[in-house]
Amino acid sequence: MTPNRRTLLHAGVSVTATLASATFAGQSPGARDARPPKALLADDPESRAAAAQDFGHIIQRQPRAVCKPKSGAEVADILRWAREQGLKVAARGQGHATYGRAMAEDGIVMDLGAMAAIHRIESDCVVVDAGATWHAVLQAALAKGFAPPVLTNYLGLSVGGTLAVGGIGGSSSQHGLQTDQVLELDVVTGEGVELTCSPTAHAELFDAVRAGLAQCAIITRAMLRLMRAPERVRRYLLSYSDLASLTADQRRALDEGRFDQLQGAVVPDGTGGWRYQMEAAVFYDSGTPPDDKRLLAGLAEKRETVSDLAFGDDANAFAKLEQLLRSNGQWFNPHPWLLTYLRGSNALEVASEVIAGLNSDDLGPFGRITYYPIFTGECRTPLLRLPDERVVFPFNLIRIPASADKANADRQLARNRTVCDRIRAAGGMLYPVSALAMSPQDWADHFGPRWPLLCDAKRHHDPAGILTPGYDLF
Ligand SMILES: Cc1cc2nc3c(=O)[nH]c(=O)nc-3n(C[C@H](O)[C@H](O)[C@H](O)COP(=O)(O)OP(=O)(O)OC[C@H]3O[C@@H](n4cnc5c(N)ncnc54)[C@H](O)[C@@H]3O)c2cc1C
Repeated sequence: MTPNRRTLLHAGVSVTATLASATFAGQSPGARDARPPKALLADDPESRAAAAQDFGHIIQRQPRAVCKPKSGAEVADILRWAREQGLKVAARGQGHATYGRAMAEDGIVMDLGAMAAIHRIESDCVVVDAGATWHAVLQAALAKGFAPPVLTNYLGLSVGGTLAVGGIGGSSSQHGLQTDQVLELDVVTGEGVELTCSPTAHAELFDAVRAGLAQCAIITRAMLRLMRAPERVRRYLLSYSDLASLTADQRRALDEGRFDQLQGAVVPDGTGGWRYQMEAAVFYDSGTPPDDKRLLAGLAEKRETVSDLAFGDDANAFAKLEQLLRSNGQWFNPHPWLLTYLRGSNALEVASEVIAGLNSDDLGPFGRITYYPIFTGECRTPLLRLPDERVVFPFNLIRIPASADKANADRQLARNRTVCDRIRAAGGMLYPVSALAMSPQDWADHFGPRWPLLCDAKRHHDPAGILTPGYDLF
């Protein structure tokens, strides 16, 4: 037996012993015995090792135990027990955070993968467990002819994981973020209290949970808005020689409302330079195909239709890249991503400056800089911080390095800090899914006028401060 394995097993045994002697404090009337919560898998070294990693592969934090609750009641039992024991707890959805945000050093990681049921689908809403992936939600909704109005570009994320941060997608101009599509949430607070919150019930908690970085409660179930699903999606790629002409056409296309989805990127061209591209899509039903000529009139000379797919296949298109990156190993390399929002009024200037300071090789062959304008009118989630302008630009350094070189990852992390400082000085905002060390003061600055909302909710619903230590927020 290797020393490592011995250590893990020893840790597992001692945790089991601790759990066996633990008593619950503040239990619900139905859970008065002194046994540890049975969903706690304290002596499973593989689960503990998996929970010490995330998609970022930058931070490793070994939890004392991993648990896999199957119900809100089990989540509540575990939280009450953890609070009594003075242990920190982090919920984990699909583990796609990039900087240890779903980890808890020597604490409990609560893997919500077993809470993934789709409970109910109606014409205007779906009720799902928070551990369900957006892929599962979409498939279930499409089977009845519906779809969530906003989907992330990658569907392998959990509902709870994106509602904790925001969840932006190609339709955010029309509908806001995924946190804006929530009608009601079942949550368990840091005190182990199960509550249902919505705009009319525990509204302050509802506002603190959506994009609240999992500081006040763990989401167990969500009621989400649905819309009628379009049948098909036609996707166009328009190419530009520089950022200024890309920006001008993006703004024009946005203002004229030409497309149902409007995104874009600056991508390495393989020779040390960049390609500038607008990525746009229209939804349509069979029998009424889009008029390409009218849609693209006056926009870039160089343009092509890249795909024409059923709505579900289009939404899941990222899965092909995921498969490729898994097979070439790059999915498992460090991912020092930086995601931000620029002011519409200075996006071109700031993005040009940042890009001029980047080496296209730093992003890796499959990396990209996401850059496109969105209207902010439908973005209403209080804790989702955006520049206060009608149009903002998501500006994301999506780094997919070809190697696992730690020195390279450290260099990119240092650069994230410089770039983020520059963007913030220009009125931009951080999207907290970034790989960036943040101090409590940095977070207070980030949340600005909304900081008291989060602090009050934290004091009220997680007074012992056990939830989600990975952000270093408090
Ligand atoms: C390939 C890829 C593509 C992406 N594309 C997009 C995109 O298009 N748009 C976008 O907005 N983001 C995107 N992201 C970022 C992504 O939305 C966030 O990283 C998200 O938090 C990951 O969800 P997850 O289920 O993997 O969560 P995890 O990594 O497991 O957790 C992330 C955070 O959410 C918390 N959390 C998880 N479940 C719950 C719960 N039930 N209740 C409360 N808190 C919870 C965790 O504690 C942690 O703090 C992408 C990420 C990747 C890796």
